[in-house]
Formats: sequence, C-alpha cells, structure tokens
Amino acid sequence: MPMIAVVPIGGVKGELVKAVADFIEGYYSRFGMRVKTLPEIPLEPFSSAFNLLRGQYLGRVFLPTLFRLGERTGARAVLGITEADLYEEGLNFIFGLANPSLKAAVVSVHRLRPEFYGGRPDDELLKERTVKEAMHELGHLFGLGHCPNPKCVMHFSNSILDTDFKGPLYCQVCDGKLSKALGVLK
Ligand SMILES: [Zn+2]
Ligand SMILES: [Zn+2]
Repeated sequence: MPMIAVVPIGGVKGELVKAVADFIEGYYSRFGMRVKTLPEIPLEPFSSAFNLLRGQYLGRVFLPTLFRLGERTGARAVLGITEADLYEEGLNFIFGLANPSLKAAVVSVHRLRPEFYGGRPDDELLKERTVKEAMHELGHLFGLGHCPNPKCVMHFSNSILDTDFKGPLYCQVCDGKLSKALGVLK
C-alpha cells in the first residue's frame, strides 16, 4: 500500500504530529494511501542550514535527508515537521516548502504559533494551521500548483491571515487534479 511518511524533526509535540498524520490519512486514504509516522530525527545534523544573522534555517537543506528517509522506507512522499524557523533566498520566511522530484516537503510550526504574533498559546489553532500547511505541501508533492481560490488549501499564504482564511481541504478543481494524478499512479 502506498505510504506517506510524516517525520518530526527536533522536538515537535507528539500530539501535534498525530493530529496532522490523522488528518492527512483521513483525506489520502481515498487514494489507497496510508500514513506512517517515523521516529523523530534530531535538528543538529541540519546545523549547516542555520543562518546566524537571520536566526533561521534554509528550508531546502532539509529535503535531501527526507528524500533518503523516503527511499529507505519506500514512502511515496515524505513530510517533515519542524519547530525551526525556515527561510528561502529572497523570502523573509516560509511556512514550508516542497520538492516534487525529491518527493519531500517540510513544514515549520514556528510561525503558526499564535504566540509568535503576540497571542496566547492555542493548541487547537496550532493543529488547524499545521494541518493546512501540511496538506498544502503534500498537494505540491502530488503535482498541484497554487490555486486562486482563497478558501482552497492550495492558495498561497503570504501571511498567517491567509492560512487562517483558507480551509484544510482542496477545492473541487484541485481535488479533481489530484484524483486524476493519484488515480493513474495507484
Ligand atoms: Zn505553495
Ligand atoms: Zn484549489
């Protein structure tokens, strides 16, 4: 059975990881896929990704390691979840990124926490936001681009407001594309 691997990187709460894995499985099981949570991997090996001036990690550095984990476990796609604050060149920050040719994606919860914006900690809101970013990056891994529909999970999030506005699911158009792509691959 094709499998999506979820990998916590460096001290992400188990409860949060489980909520994300359960949601993904709830959706992707329709394509005959199951979700497996792999043991946590440490953040230390990614220290070369850390930019001292920015205090952030270069996102793409995480992907080859996740790719190798995918190869080893036979996963169809690998999604890392990290507390590390991520960036890419030319961008102040990123909520996550995906590389379809590596079948690997990573999501950062750093800027999904309400306390990052001066709010109170809220586990439910954090779960909701992490689920959305995870579904978004997985959509990229399975060939979806950004969607103009602001309620679709494939809509690009410029800020946390966009993330909160959109839903956790693909719109009808994106869902159709995904069904077509994954139906063929099954
Ligand atoms: Zn995107
Ligand atoms: Zn869409």
